[in-house]
Amino acid sequence: MPQNQPPRRDFLRYVGTLAALSTPALAAGAAEKDKVEFPPIYDKSEKPERTEPPADPREARIGIAIVGLGRIAVNEMLPALSQCRHARPAALVTGDRAKGLKIARQYNIPDSAVLDYRDYDKLASMPEVQGVYIALPNSMHGEYTVRAAAAGKHVLCEKPMANSVAECQQMIDACRKAGRKLMIAYRSQYEPLDRALVKLVQDKQLGRLKEFVSVNSQNMGDPQHWRLKRALAGGGALPDIGLYCLNAARFLSGEEPDEVIGNIWSTPGDARFREVEESCQFILRFPSGFIASCSTSYAAHKSQLLRLNGSQAWAEMNPAYAYHGLKLRVTRVVDGKEQASDIQIEEQNQFTLEMDHFAQCIQQNKDVHTPGEEGLQDQRIMEAIYQSARTRQPVRLAPPGRTRGPQPQMEA
Ligand code: NAD
Repeated sequence: MPQNQPPRRDFLRYVGTLAALSTPALAAGAAEKDKVEFPPIYDKSEKPERTEPPADPREARIGIAIVGLGRIAVNEMLPALSQCRHARPAALVTGDRAKGLKIARQYNIPDSAVLDYRDYDKLASMPEVQGVYIALPNSMHGEYTVRAAAAGKHVLCEKPMANSVAECQQMIDACRKAGRKLMIAYRSQYEPLDRALVKLVQDKQLGRLKEFVSVNSQNMGDPQHWRLKRALAGGGALPDIGLYCLNAARFLSGEEPDEVIGNIWSTPGDARFREVEESCQFILRFPSGFIASCSTSYAAHKSQLLRLNGSQAWAEMNPAYAYHGLKLRVTRVVDGKEQASDIQIEEQNQFTLEMDHFAQCIQQNKDVHTPGEEGLQDQRIMEAIYQSARTRQPVRLAPPGRTRGPQPQMEA
């Protein structure tokens, strides 16, 4: 057997332990006494039954104002909030009052807590709202974060954090000055299979990391949508979906790139790409010799995948980055044969996990896992990618300070 190669049974046992990442772990502060237990009815050969961790009583949950009632807020975050144990929807901020009232009734939010954007600063006098979730076009993240902090609210802001490094810094400074938390909504970093992959890497199960290859593409339609307007979106495929590849290369490896090479392309005459790039290809070089090659397109059929190649094994997520149906496979040589293992972890709503992490950090006054510094670092790298594409030269990057907080506590 080659050196450093764990025997087959050990690796399979190790893969089994990854599922433990999603076994119930009561977070400090949750009402332990409220946990409901059942006596076991299955044989020991079956996997242990899942016991639902208790939820906080309604009044103890962090009240969240949803700012912007677009697709991500209505289709993903509001339904996810219904499954949260530590957060609840408490207010809606929208330019469309009829839509706001319709949604408020579905989520037990009083009509009086449906605000127009013009009334946003009234949040300051709503103690039932402790945090805001900003789900507006990218160019509006900065202003609405700064105003939320001034109103005394903690902020969970959608990605990309903003459209420039300067704006990201203003958001960090405003929240720091107000003593409020700022978290960027990098949902993949709270998703169980991605977390299992981080653990595989940290436990050196892939050996030495060498390559990361990733694609995140989708075919856009409406040329009038804000995502295709530079002033609102800041860029095209890169900040919207290429960002997932960029952020994954960083959080999966735990390293920061010191050089980037970028290329952008737009098909001449395509009305969708008059203002922003259609596609972007970029290479990130890391100090250890690890290299990430990523590609993102707004004009190719939906495709979302990543491959992490180590010296001893590779791991693949296909699809990666999706809301549902993620798959993780690890392949290595065991006893002279190529062996593939599918890592099975019960699917959990990543938006729920993300929001509950934000709420628990507020309740327990803890550092969030993906603070403003994490969004700022991605913005620095994206600006370097665009610079490289413009100049056709590699761009060097100075190492950042700490960009990530402690690993999130996860409840199953
Ligand atoms: P969307 O177009 O569906 O919704 C945007 C909302 O902003 C709408 O309610 C719209 O009315 C409102 N709005 C306010 N002012 C506006 C203006 N001047 N122009 C256009 N719209 C305006 O967009 P979305 O898909 O919900 O994206 C919102 C944010 O969430 C973006 O920052 C996006 O990058 C992010 N997002 C994150 C994920 C994720 O998985 N984390 C997924 C999708 C979107």
